[in-house]
Amino acid sequence: MNDFLLTPVEFIKGVGPQRAELLRNELGLATVNDLLHHFPFRYVDRSVYYKVKDLPYADFAIQLKGRIIQVSESTAGARQKKLVAKFQDETGVIDLVWFQGVKWIKPLLKTGVEYQMYGKARLYGNQWNVAHPELTEWSEVDKRTGLQPIYSTTEKLTSKGLHSKGLEKIISQVALQLKGRIPETLTAELIQKHRLLSKEQALYLVHRPNSTDDFTRARTRLKLEELFFLQLELLIRKQIGQRAMKGHVFDKVGEVFNTFYEQHLPFELTNAQKRVLKEIRRDCHTGIHMNRLVQGDVGSGKTLVALLAMLIALDNGYQAALMAPTEILAGQHYETIQSLLEPMGVQVALLTGSTKKKQREQLHEGLVEGRIQLLIGTHALLENTVQFANLGIVVIDEQHRFGVAQRARMWRKNQVPPHVLIMTATPIPRTLAMTFYGDLDVSVIDELPPGRKPVSTFHRYESHRLRLFGFMKEQIALGRQVYVVYPLIRESETLDFNNLMAGYEAISRAFPLPDYRVSIVHGQMKPDDKEFEMQRFVRGETQIMVATTVIEVGVNVPNASVMIIESAERFGLSQLHQLRGRVGRGAEQSYCILMTGNELGKDTLKRLETMVSTNDGFEIAEVDLQLRGPGDIMGTQQSGLLNLKIADLSKDSQLVILARDEARNILAEDEQLSMPQHAMVRIVLEEILKSRPNWGKIA
Ligand code: ADP
Ligand code: MG
Repeated sequence: MNDFLLTPVEFIKGVGPQRAELLRNELGLATVNDLLHHFPFRYVDRSVYYKVKDLPYADFAIQLKGRIIQVSESTAGARQKKLVAKFQDETGVIDLVWFQGVKWIKPLLKTGVEYQMYGKARLYGNQWNVAHPELTEWSEVDKRTGLQPIYSTTEKLTSKGLHSKGLEKIISQVALQLKGRIPETLTAELIQKHRLLSKEQALYLVHRPNSTDDFTRARTRLKLEELFFLQLELLIRKQIGQRAMKGHVFDKVGEVFNTFYEQHLPFELTNAQKRVLKEIRRDCHTGIHMNRLVQGDVGSGKTLVALLAMLIALDNGYQAALMAPTEILAGQHYETIQSLLEPMGVQVALLTGSTKKKQREQLHEGLVEGRIQLLIGTHALLENTVQFANLGIVVIDEQHRFGVAQRARMWRKNQVPPHVLIMTATPIPRTLAMTFYGDLDVSVIDELPPGRKPVSTFHRYESHRLRLFGFMKEQIALGRQVYVVYPLIRESETLDFNNLMAGYEAISRAFPLPDYRVSIVHGQMKPDDKEFEMQRFVRGETQIMVATTVIEVGVNVPNASVMIIESAERFGLSQLHQLRGRVGRGAEQSYCILMTGNELGKDTLKRLETMVSTNDGFEIAEVDLQLRGPGDIMGTQQSGLLNLKIADLSKDSQLVILARDEARNILAEDEQLSMPQHAMVRIVLEEILKSRPNWGKIA
């Protein structure tokens, strides 16, 4: 970076040491370069003025030109003061109102002086009013027609005159000095190919646009640059990682796999399962270290793919481990896999938090000696006391958030790190996967086993309760089982717990013995009791399972065909989709009923509508991303990647893909970025890599 860009903000006209310190502390803006990269988050067209008589019923801010004719102060509520200014143009009068800062605003208001007024107008009775408007004396209004950039700022900065407008003044001044001082960071080829603005033009126009076209092009260029370097960084890290980490070579497919495949496989694999298995096999015998994410909607048959991958490891003399997020799920996997492999004499073991000490010690021994070939368990597997003779592969089920640091804990269990396979039923939109899992390869099982019927989903209110019970009875009479799920976001929340118990009692009353049997499972039960209840339901001894979200992932009861979700408004989209995935696993038509209260917000309605209208996990994931944004979806774990200044992973998916492709292209042509035309790209990339020390070498 050059001297101009590194100039401290305090040397900019109108800033000085005091404001410079504030800018640094409040927004992290220390240099000219920082200021130039403090991008407006929107633009307002300041060339349009309304008239009082034509005010629109709209939710956007408008501008008026007029004078204040009268100022008065009154009390609004019990204690609150209110300042009202009558503002008049040629066509009428509106009220400008302040509820805060009355004391310092009042003396600033001049009657008779012409003002530009900017704010949102609301109609109360038949009087228009604007609360907390922005007022500028007409003589000081920037008459440049065009768009005004709006900058984010803080309360502290605002109180020192660095509101959006104040920032605009400073940044705009800097923007005027850019000529010849902004080195180009993208290659000439890229710029030509996508007809991008130069960096200098883009930085100027993003702050001082004259048209929508100006800022659109400026933003596109800056977004693409940001995403390009992000993707480049991820690709480079992956390269470094793969070079540094050798993987086990599974070069034979032997007896265990073949016997199982030919004699014990209960059904033909779907084409998608076969394809993904092939991808896994390819990874595992090339000597690279596999880090693969398998995405597949609930019920797409991921377990089987994982099992086959583990059998290949066994055939090559290695051990395998499967980690599940809950004890119930680990237990289920154990049952399924144990019963499939027992006839073949494969040694399978289960390790969870509730495994007794004595048993655990035996287990540890068996693992170190290599007697146990396949270990299934919960997070308990991660503990350091769990060591293997020769761990070849780790499957992590239903945890797409399993981050680099956690994966590394598994890697360290062996001299040569085991291959890692992560299975998730929470589809991640492609653009997010590309960014967050830049270091992972992604496989998709995009096909359900034959004969599955899509689950019919309905949204119902409390008034429907009696009919709902009737419907449950019909289904039970047909021999089906029913889940009723309550939110228990934090298991300790008594209110949630009381709701669950009240629901359980109501159901027990409506579905009395001896005709009906009702199970209950929740987080405050002892693991043994949970297990017992769960098993009763799995065996079909109870027809209704009242539960909290503990049954969310993985649990498989093909005979269960009705999923009722209570207080569905409190669940996120991906959770709702997960829960719904518990039904529709058998051949019967299945149903999901979303029960809610009557007062629902806009986003909630959107979530419910989405659930009713589609069963497609990827489509649901896209809506989820729009509603929540990438930060909430991915958790804070990888939030470093979210510090994007201008691009938005949820909105700029086209650009993400373009950036990814171009980053790939450049590395394919010049892996070391040593060609002269790539010199600048290399310099920028090196700066980025240096600025991210915490990522460590393993990523
Ligand atoms: P998920 O992808 O949600 O983990 P599972 O692996 O639990 O799905 O599989 C769901 C159900 O589908 C299981 O009962 C499993 O035995 C069955 N299944 C898996 N693969 C096939 C297939 N190719 N044909 C028929 N049924 C299958
Ligand atoms: Mg599963």
